[in-house]
Amino acid sequence: MNRDQFEKYSRQILFAGVGESGQERLLASSAVLVGCGALGTVAANLLVRAGLGRLRVIDRDFVEASNLQRQSLFEEADARESLPKAVAAERRLRAINSGVQVEGVVADLTPTNARELVASYPLILDGTDNFETRLLLNDAAISLGVPWIYAAAVGSYGVTLTIRPGETVCLACLLEGDEKSGAALGAEATCDTAGVLNSAVSVIASIQATEALKILAGKPEALHGRLISCDVWAGRFQSVRAERNPRCRACVRREFDYLEGEAQPHITMCGRDSVQIHERSRKFDLGDLGRRLATSPSADVRNNRFLLRFRVPPYEMTVFADGRAIVKGTTDPAVARSLYARYLGA
Ligand SMILES: [Zn+2]
Repeated sequence: MNRDQFEKYSRQILFAGVGESGQERLLASSAVLVGCGALGTVAANLLVRAGLGRLRVIDRDFVEASNLQRQSLFEEADARESLPKAVAAERRLRAINSGVQVEGVVADLTPTNARELVASYPLILDGTDNFETRLLLNDAAISLGVPWIYAAAVGSYGVTLTIRPGETVCLACLLEGDEKSGAALGAEATCDTAGVLNSAVSVIASIQATEALKILAGKPEALHGRLISCDVWAGRFQSVRAERNPRCRACVRREFDYLEGEAQPHITMCGRDSVQIHERSRKFDLGDLGRRLATSPSADVRNNRFLLRFRVPPYEMTVFADGRAIVKGTTDPAVARSLYARYLGA
């Protein structure tokens, strides 16, 4: 550690739990964050300021005005330009702490790319917003033997748990076991239907970032191993010890269902009133596509370097170079699929 670093991180070094040796370890550490929305922006901000060495930020989405209430790395200009969250986050995080290597990756975590995108990182942080992706992340982490930190928030409530393969309970233990626990937060409710308080997000992401700090600073003995939940509106905080399922599909039987089964295009609900289609074998040339669509008078095509958006009233399609499209204005996968085929090709 040089003098400048010592000064920059002095208040954290003074904290006995971290100390100088912990800060040295942290500076040499790396982590990957999957999903950079509400929880992800708060956790990334804290970890980058704390001075980890390297952070990869993976996100599939772009910034919208309704994100700004809680997604603390983004600004109005990012929403006006429809910047991908991974790009906007990388820019902001580098400005916050130039000593950290930050890499934004615009991608959707899928069974095909999940292991590749997170491998070579000793810690994975969950910033996703759905259980399908979290169970995929759980499969990837358990199969690689890498710890990951689950976090979720909706309404005024949030929950987080640090998962260490083979040592602690995993997400499949909690969600697929005989006894369903309170961990399945948001299985029905989502932020798009129930709303979310930014303070609930901040509390949970802060606990998540603290757990990450313990791992990255080489203080695993400080991990509490408990499922923490809180309701900031009701003023309730809970901490329970969750037990492993001795017959767990993922962490005991090592059956990674979510990493396998990879035939059809991936269709997921993506927020209120939107469907995402991911044709994995496709790549789009956004320039070509824009010129082609611009010949249609009603299309209203707008694009930046990262995405292309056009209207097909009452729908709006946003297309990414990696073969994804988000169709706004419907929750019906069949409608989304047919629009995809009509405008982007079957
Ligand atoms: Zn398990």
